[in-house]
Amino acid sequence: MPSLFQKDITYLKGVGEKRAKLFQKLGAPTVGALLRMYPRGYEDWSRLTSIKDAPLDELCALRATVTRRPSETRIRKGLTIYKTVATDGESDLQLTFFNNPYLPNLLLEGEEYVFYGKVTGSLLRREMSAPEFCKASQALPIRPVYRQTEGLTSRQISAAVQNAFALLPETMQDPLPADLRKKHELCHLRYALENIHFPSSMEALEIARRRLIFEELLVLQLGLLRLRRHSRRTKNSHVIQNAAESFWPLLPFEPTGAQKRAVSEALRDMAGDEPMNRLVQGDVGSGKTAVAAALCHSVIKSGYQAAMMAPTEILAKQHYASLSRMLEPAGVRLGLLTGSVTGAKKRVLLEALEAGEIDLLVGTHALISEDVTFHDLALVVTDEQHRFGVEQRSSLTAKGDHPHHLVMSATPIPRTLALMIYGDLDISVLDERPPGRQTIRTYAVDGTKRERAFGYLRKHIEEGYQCYIICPLIEEGVGDMASVLEYTEQLRREYFPDVAIGMLHGRMKAKEKEDVMNRFANGETSILVSTTVVEVGVDVPNAVVMLIENAERYGLSQLHQLRGRVGRGSVQSTCILVSDAQNEEALARLKIMCRTSDGFQIADEDLRLRGPGDFFGTNQHGLPDLKIANMAEDLETLRIAQETAREILKEDPDMTEAKYRGLRGEIRLLFDRIGSENLN
Ligand code: ADP
Ligand code: MG
Repeated sequence: MPSLFQKDITYLKGVGEKRAKLFQKLGAPTVGALLRMYPRGYEDWSRLTSIKDAPLDELCALRATVTRRPSETRIRKGLTIYKTVATDGESDLQLTFFNNPYLPNLLLEGEEYVFYGKVTGSLLRREMSAPEFCKASQALPIRPVYRQTEGLTSRQISAAVQNAFALLPETMQDPLPADLRKKHELCHLRYALENIHFPSSMEALEIARRRLIFEELLVLQLGLLRLRRHSRRTKNSHVIQNAAESFWPLLPFEPTGAQKRAVSEALRDMAGDEPMNRLVQGDVGSGKTAVAAALCHSVIKSGYQAAMMAPTEILAKQHYASLSRMLEPAGVRLGLLTGSVTGAKKRVLLEALEAGEIDLLVGTHALISEDVTFHDLALVVTDEQHRFGVEQRSSLTAKGDHPHHLVMSATPIPRTLALMIYGDLDISVLDERPPGRQTIRTYAVDGTKRERAFGYLRKHIEEGYQCYIICPLIEEGVGDMASVLEYTEQLRREYFPDVAIGMLHGRMKAKEKEDVMNRFANGETSILVSTTVVEVGVDVPNAVVMLIENAERYGLSQLHQLRGRVGRGSVQSTCILVSDAQNEEALARLKIMCRTSDGFQIADEDLRLRGPGDFFGTNQHGLPDLKIANMAEDLETLRIAQETAREILKEDPDMTEAKYRGLRGEIRLLFDRIGSENLN
């Protein structure tokens, strides 16, 4: 059986080199891949209507007998028409076909067929033009519809699949072991494949789908868990004493209940048998830094070192500053390492680190460079994790002897997706905002209101506040899309000649960005025109208005992140979404932004609207595309698959048992598609 699955698609009758290329393009270079290329929909040929009752201009299926041999008329070069008549015993149906020289051999007089198409005409003269058809004796009740490509129709794909089934031997091995299928009441792979392509009924299709979704999610989950299993199987070599009670009084504020909960959950992990692997998810402003600080504090009081890695230099500096404020009074020695720390300064820092004279090192991915050696690293905190690759994260943890790992994400991730991406991480959610926070008022307007919005900005600037303006492009607007350079130019010339305006975008050098950001943070500039580079973490409490141009261009989660740059002080803040988009989906999305400020709710909507593939932009989450499961919808199956995956790995961490051979093969196949090399 495996041999047929692996056979080149040209092995199938009717698939030559040329057609094989098209199959390849659709993702089916082999017979096995073809069988796993599930239909994207189905035509229901099971509910037959009579010719008389057929609804006009709607797709329907009806059964009728051809009453005469099709006639052939050549209208002009390149257009030949075939006509015939069929009857269901009660009424006649006129049938017309185009340019199909085989038709007279396909539609035989006296034979009964099922026709599928739209009926047109009048009550007296019913017609069908170029319907699909099939001998009634061979008609499938439900017909698959495949994603087609130019030169390869759904029908041809269906024929190839049928062909492949004909070649399959009687017994087929199932990657899901029999005991697992039994436990979860899942059908055999053969039944599933046959009925996903050619369902014998709607019920059979459901049974097939359920099994295939389960299988896909299980394989994905197993793959992800195995990717990270090393940390799960090691002993905790840094048992941490809970020193939270002596930390909280160091803060100028009372911790929220959620912060306390997250800290005690993490402290419980770090006192346990295995190293901690925990994700702290919290909306912007929910106070993740204090949580990290509390944990670093306990780790350091237990005699170890901690490290915190941020994705950008600006952010690393900000973390360094706020962690210093919170922890220096407790005698913690902090260091900052970014790309711009070099030479003697760097050498001194690294020596102190290695000697254990620095307790907490904050920095960018410079932390993972080879020359960085810790004395005894027990806790690694990574902020905004989806911006780091898996390898970067693991090279930081490799700097210690299986240190604890805390991941902080400010992008609220729908729980479904978090379960997937963060495989075996435990999750704490900061679902409570520190007291006194206001909600950011959000308005969606079209371009005609722009000048009024500028007036609103001016009013706030005159009161001493600052504003952000976000544009999608850097230079030279395309169509009606705004660019930072042109926009700034125009603001300086026409609307705000008297106001200091800063400009920030991704093509500037790190140093320049830094300067611009600092000038804005110090209040030297009142308006900051920026691309989304400003999105991450930056904290300027005096900035209270944000205007986002071409707001329809952004994902909801990204808009939410951007919006989180304001509302960081105690003053009522406002976000103005400017968009001339007309289409309903875009408008609906902007409405969601105006309606809610709950990052998790927004993330759920985003996932629902855009699917996981787009959630973080192109594949940043590193998940393979799924063929049949839908993470926003197949939630319950996902949960069961995840539980099952954990059980399997607990029993047999390397999946060496013979019954898992098939599953191992599927894991390899799925992860090959994302090019993951870490899978063994
Ligand atoms: P996040 O990283 O989750 O976006 P921060 O950790 O940067 O949020 O915290 C945002 C602001 O809220 C900071 O100025 C911080 O000092 C403050 N803050 C954090 N926790 C509390 C709290 N419990 N009460 C009041 N203010 C808090
Ligand atoms: Mg933060």
